[in-house]
Amino acid sequence: MSNILAIVGRPNVGKSTLFNRLIEQKKAIMDNVSGVTRDRHYGFGEWTGKYFTVIDTGGYVHGSEDTFEGAIREQVELAIEEADVLLFVVDCHTGITDLDKDFANVLRRSKKPVYVAANKADTFEKGLMAAEFYELGLSEPFAISAENGSGTGDLLDGIVSHFPEEGIENPHQDIPKIAIVGKPNVGKSSFLNALLGKQRSIVTDIAGTTRDAIDNHYTLYGKEFIITDTAGIRRKAKIDDNLEYYSILRSLKAMEECDVAVVVIDATTIDPLTGLQAQDMNIISMAHRAKKGIVLMINKWDLVEKDSMTSKRLEDAIRQRMAPLNYMPMIFTSVKDKIRIFQAVEKVLEVYENKTKRIPTSKLNEVMLQVIENYPPPAWKGKYIKIKYLTQLPTKAPSFVLFCNLPQYIRESYERYLENKMREHFDFTGVPIQLFFRKK
Ligand code: GDP
Ligand code: GDP
Repeated sequence: MSNILAIVGRPNVGKSTLFNRLIEQKKAIMDNVSGVTRDRHYGFGEWTGKYFTVIDTGGYVHGSEDTFEGAIREQVELAIEEADVLLFVVDCHTGITDLDKDFANVLRRSKKPVYVAANKADTFEKGLMAAEFYELGLSEPFAISAENGSGTGDLLDGIVSHFPEEGIENPHQDIPKIAIVGKPNVGKSSFLNALLGKQRSIVTDIAGTTRDAIDNHYTLYGKEFIITDTAGIRRKAKIDDNLEYYSILRSLKAMEECDVAVVVIDATTIDPLTGLQAQDMNIISMAHRAKKGIVLMINKWDLVEKDSMTSKRLEDAIRQRMAPLNYMPMIFTSVKDKIRIFQAVEKVLEVYENKTKRIPTSKLNEVMLQVIENYPPPAWKGKYIKIKYLTQLPTKAPSFVLFCNLPQYIRESYERYLENKMREHFDFTGVPIQLFFRKK
């Protein structure tokens, strides 16, 4: 990636306000749904035809007073390491503080361009205060107001002049995005931590800090992916009394932007006769309706008393109860004992492949027209239904249009038959597919 701008500075100077202004997506980012807050730290901005990535590093560090020094160092080092340009935000209302000076000392040593944004210069008079920040010994301070946007244009002119390339509109576009969802206590955070343990990611280890990065980048077997982290949606105190509700809300939020959802299920709560619990089913059908790829991760497998047939039996029981929503792969894991954790990720990447692949029209027709000829749609009131041709639509999740003479008479059972045949011939494991019948 290139064209990266990192925002640094002490708390309350207006970093996140500026971040939101730069990426102009305020609504998507700031959600204050009844006590659930989410901090996102990556966003994409554009200025005079140049695209860039903005990192709000402040969000990674939640130091208390005594760990602050470490926190600053960590935050700034991160920014220096990751970014092409650093944007140091200070506050015109309060003027220079000791903490600002600490930041400036570290920044001055970096080899990267540093811009100083003297924020909260909402009026011309306030803007005059910006001159005070010359004292930091960095570059000329830009008086800006993150809140009303004044001064940000000049600042951006300067910043983008350091970006050599035009950049791409959304560098994350073609990287699989994974959400880890599920009921409380099934092992979602443990799973994430197990993955983080192996991979370098922009996350701080300072004691007492909350890891709430939403987009965690990984590379596994040379493949990049992003985990949109539900743990990033912090639960505020006092709402624990409605844990279930919030976990559903969290799952929904996390799922919004993902390509593949890993639905984590506690193996000890699965009934060999009745299958998954209703709440698990709710989350799965939410993902299905949202047309997400789905992997079922049956976790805490270490706690289940088992023989060599147990997983097969359980899988069969679950699939039977879930029909027709039984196209998802299942993987039996123990996050605690680190069993099949990476296989789970591999499954996810497979599902992503299935979700994004395109079946050539010629191949599709060759296979499916034969299937249809072998078992044509049953006639309706003496009328013969003929499917002549089909093609895949350029949608995010696989969908197909089938052209026929009397689309209104295709029955659901026949549609299901076709879907099953499609799945038999082309691997769509873990992916909801849609068939549309159109008149031709
Ligand atoms: P951060 O902790 O550095 O991310 O700071 P925030 O973006 O959360 O802002 C801290 C406070 O400063 C909030 O109450 C903002 O509304 C306020 N603030 C941010 N930018 C401006 C600005 O340009 N003018 C004024 N007057 N207030 C601002
Ligand atoms: P979350 O609420 O879904 O994020 O669940 P957590 O990751 O916080 O895990 C809930 C509890 O289950 C914690 O006490 C974990 O240590 C425990 N746990 C997670 N995965 C496993 C596992 O594979 N086996 C066992 N025995 N316990 C686990």
